[in-house]
Amino acid sequence: MTLLRFTDIGLYCAAGDFYIDPWRPVEKAVITHAHSDHARAGHGAYLCHHDTLPLLQLRLGNHPYQSVDWNESIYINGVKISLHPAGHIIGSAQVRLEYQGEVWVVSGDYKTENDGISGSFEPVACHTFITESTFGLPIYQWKPQSVIFSEIQGWIEKNRSEGSASVLFAYSLGKAQRILQAIAPITEEIYVHGAVWNTHETIVRNGISLPNVKRVTPDTPKAALKGSVVIAPSSAQDSPWLKRFHPYKTGVCSGWMQVRGNARRQNADAGFALSDHADWQGLLSTVKATGAARVYVTHGFQSAFSRHLNETGIEAYEVRTEYGGEDGDAPTQDVTEGAL
Ligand SMILES: [Zn+2]
Ligand SMILES: [Zn+2]
Repeated sequence: MTLLRFTDIGLYCAAGDFYIDPWRPVEKAVITHAHSDHARAGHGAYLCHHDTLPLLQLRLGNHPYQSVDWNESIYINGVKISLHPAGHIIGSAQVRLEYQGEVWVVSGDYKTENDGISGSFEPVACHTFITESTFGLPIYQWKPQSVIFSEIQGWIEKNRSEGSASVLFAYSLGKAQRILQAIAPITEEIYVHGAVWNTHETIVRNGISLPNVKRVTPDTPKAALKGSVVIAPSSAQDSPWLKRFHPYKTGVCSGWMQVRGNARRQNADAGFALSDHADWQGLLSTVKATGAARVYVTHGFQSAFSRHLNETGIEAYEVRTEYGGEDGDAPTQDVTEGAL
């Protein structure tokens, strides 16, 4: 049975008459996580995880939201729906659908390593699995988070010894909260850009504890910023906003930094291959762990990854969606070329 159809509006469940992460306005939407390529404004009703709710309110404003806990089952027109941790960012979920004995799981974006704040990814058994493939090439193999964190700490300490501030570019929802765990053990003076601040405040207000940060404002004394550590969205790169930190060094945190030369291509002094997505092995082991006989591969390297699955005896298809493009790991023209 086909529980989900791929339409030009989004993933549609006809039996339940709802969509998952639709990219056009619909009546009922189940939302995997708060990144803007998955969570859009204008739907008639939203279903998401409790931790995603305040993020949707921050980013999309007031809409009819309903939120649920992990593993809590709700029914829409007889289709059983439950959310399971995807480990991608705070609140990110896989969506499990069950109807007349048939089980489908939509991964959304996911990461198999437990980063300490985004929930521990859990493979969910299903007949059909819909997986992302952002880093679906064998060259993508992440080092453990603890190793990357040591690299970031060493870089900050070197910059500090040279009297330079360390400006880390990281996506404001996900990566920014994650790298706080790397920075907090070595300094209490963590400054953030306004975009990072808003997300941080929303998460902390929702009861999730994060290290303290200070917002950079026009009143922040320049002396306080000397040798400090700063987290900013990549939109602040090459902007006059950075001048106040002078002298400073810049670092980019993204899976694309695994490919040599990409930091230089992005005009940064350093690159850290820290991703909020599964690497090649993570994708493969997840597909196997679900036990799915059929796999649909969405955004990323869908043709390479689905070809590989077919060669290993798993029936796989490429699917075109409008995902990818917002979170810090979304490929840009430059870095994708570098990756290929
Ligand atoms: Zn995402
Ligand atoms: Zn995405």
